[in-house]
Formats: sequence, structure tokens, C-alpha cells
Amino acid sequence: MRLQVLGTAAGGGVPQWNCACPGCSGARAHPGRRRRHASLAVQLDDGAYVVNATPDIAEQIESCAWLRPGPGPRESPLKGVILTDAELDHTIGLLRLREADALEVRSTPVVRHALRPFAELLRPYLQLTWADAATIPVSGKRPRYAAGSPEAEAEAEAGAEAEAGAEATGWVSALRLGPLVYAPAMGVWPDELDEAFRQAACVIVDGTFWDDEEPRRTGISARTATQMGHLPIEATMERLSKLPGRRLYTHLNNTNPLVDPAAEQHELLAELGIEVAADGMVIDL
Ligand SMILES: [Zn+2]
Repeated sequence: MRLQVLGTAAGGGVPQWNCACPGCSGARAHPGRRRRHASLAVQLDDGAYVVNATPDIAEQIESCAWLRPGPGPRESPLKGVILTDAELDHTIGLLRLREADALEVRSTPVVRHALRPFAELLRPYLQLTWADAATIPVSGKRPRYAAGSPEAEAEAEAGAEAEAGAEATGWVSALRLGPLVYAPAMGVWPDELDEAFRQAACVIVDGTFWDDEEPRRTGISARTATQMGHLPIEATMERLSKLPGRRLYTHLNNTNPLVDPAAEQHELLAELGIEVAADGMVIDL
């Protein structure tokens, strides 16, 4: 399967436009440290897809030789977009693709439902078709814009969140893409995911935060990484190191020490046989 990493940053990117943290400042001083929002280009049996529609999607498509248009004047090889969740940093790029004639969007039903406003906005521009993605639920965390929705309140009233397996609601998923499992947001590591990881030739997973206190320590949130729906690297690296296939972290937040190439944490991961995904990386599977 043809696969190219189009971006490796969490929401905001590195640098984030309104952020002067060491990670973002470092990326302004050293352009080689810049990271676009986490995304992949994949060639599936029925066409080329981008995984998650980030705010950077147009530049990301340009950066991938086999996604460029042609030979006709308005002929794009891009068949559609596959979504892991409905977060804005993973979906706002759908609006950026409004020049398309037609586009297929694959997601879970609940993500499709949350994105109705996007579908409405795009209706006059292009033909959007929706399909189910091959997913494994990994978190029940809703985007903030959907937190107070009538569906969310009905769910809460029914106690759906309190029950074990709140992640089964389909808000955040890992994707099975042939020999690859892609999980840029991972709030839990359930048996079903473990099984898929073991069968995969390559896994690219949530590396948003290095440790659980990072969001609080750096002042970006009052919640821990886990409470934000991201298992930190410290909690997953040992387990990840035992998987048989190739293993990479992606979706790095600008507070993550790994955004500095000189950080000692890179050596620790290398010793465990784990890679940090880089923008533009081509992975042969
Ligand atoms: Zn920053």
C-alpha cells in the first residue's frame, strides 16, 4: 500500500499561530522543525484518500506527488477523505476541498451526524457522499462544539457515558487501512485495538503528549493528557515496543519535548525501537 505522512502535529500545528511556547518558537527559528497537522495520504484499492481533513489539506495534497492533479485540467486523483473523529483540526479541511466535483467521506455514523453543518455548507459546491470507515473505537470524547448537542444530552441522560465502554459511541476511532492501523488520538487501548495492532505491519499512534501532566504543567489545559482523550507516550511506549510491526508516534502537540530534535526523549524511543513520524515520510507497506 502506498502511504505518505502528510503531517504530524496535533491541533494548532507547530508552530501554532498564537503560541510562543519553546516548541513553537523553536520551529519559527528552525523551519525544519515545522510540522503540519497530522494526516496521511493512502492509496487504497479503490483510489487515493487523505486521512483527516486538516486546515493544511491543500498544501498537504500539493506536497504529495501522487495526489497532484492531471492530466486533465481539473482531474484530481483524490477520491475522498477518511476521518478518525469530528474534531475541527481533523475536519475543517473538508471546507477547503469545496472545489472538488465529488468527494467521498468515510467516518462513523456519529461523526457523520456531527458534521451535518459542513455537509449543508458544501451542498451547493460539490457532491459529498458518505460511507462507513473500518474503525475501532478508542475514545468517547466529543468535540467541544458537539458537547452540548441534544444528542449528547440525551446520551448523558441515558447514562451512556457512565457505562463501561463509553468509547463505543464512535466519537474517536482508530482506522484499519490494509496493513496499517492509524490512531492519532487514543484515549484507551482496548483488546480489540491490541488485536489489530498485533496483526498490523505498521502502527502510527497518538504521540500528542509525552507525559500525563504535560497539558497542566505547560498551562494549556486544566486537564491531564488522559482526561483530554490522549494516552501519553509514557503510558504507551513500553507496550508499543512489544508489538511485532513498525511503530511510530504522530500527532505531536507543540508542548511535546519531541518537537525539539535534540530532546533526550528521542534516544529513549529509539532504544525501544519506536520512531517519531516526520512530515513527508514515505512508508512502504
Ligand atoms: Zn506552542
